[in-house]
Amino acid sequence: MPDHEPNPAPRRPPSAGLLLVISGPSGVGKTTITRQVVDRLGAVFSVSATTRPPTAADTPGVDYHFVSDEEFQRMIAAGDLLEYARVFGKFSYGTPRRPVEEALAQGRVVLLEIDVQGALQVRANLPEALLVFILPPDDATLLERLRKRGREGEEEIARRFAEAKREIATAEGSGAYDLFLVNDEVEKSVAEVCFAARKRLQGGVR
Ligand code: 5GP
Repeated sequence: MPDHEPNPAPRRPPSAGLLLVISGPSGVGKTTITRQVVDRLGAVFSVSATTRPPTAADTPGVDYHFVSDEEFQRMIAAGDLLEYARVFGKFSYGTPRRPVEEALAQGRVVLLEIDVQGALQVRANLPEALLVFILPPDDATLLERLRKRGREGEEEIARRFAEAKREIATAEGSGAYDLFLVNDEVEKSVAEVCFAARKRLQGGVR
């Protein structure tokens, strides 16, 4: 036995993958961007758990895992969530931890589409994550996009608009995001997110 073992500093394995977080207010087009980034990078989309009821546009198990309040609380208590938040003060949303950790261990890019509160938790727990925030070109465009979605009434649209303004201010003030992108053209936004992800995967600086 040698009297001292070589003790190399622990290194991040080359197959450690990349946790990519995309946030942005509703109506900014982040879901469209997210889907295209997932396709282009061959990434794993993290399916969140939520207590919000499904809408006609949602496919359970694909867009979200729809769970009861009790089930959500159980997941928190069991440490099953990587991050979680109450969004719009109404419903809870959270990222199931295991599928994310497993995919990262396989060297995959894992994409989380989550709000600012959740992104800040990810930043604190997994500092190597890449955090991207999508901005609307301007207020008028944001309002127009919220209206066009036609999912909600005027009152709900006004609430989402005010919430969007708050979310943008919080994101900008947090210092947690690596990249702010103005989504004036989807193709350009998708290309920029993919570029930043590839650069990070190749060990580029933050
Ligand atoms: P929606 O109900 O419109 O699908 O989503 C509302 C908001 O919840 C969006 O801003 C979305 O990014 C956020 N969200 C979705 N899943 C999660 C999650 O797992 N964690 C957090 N913190 N926010 C989420």
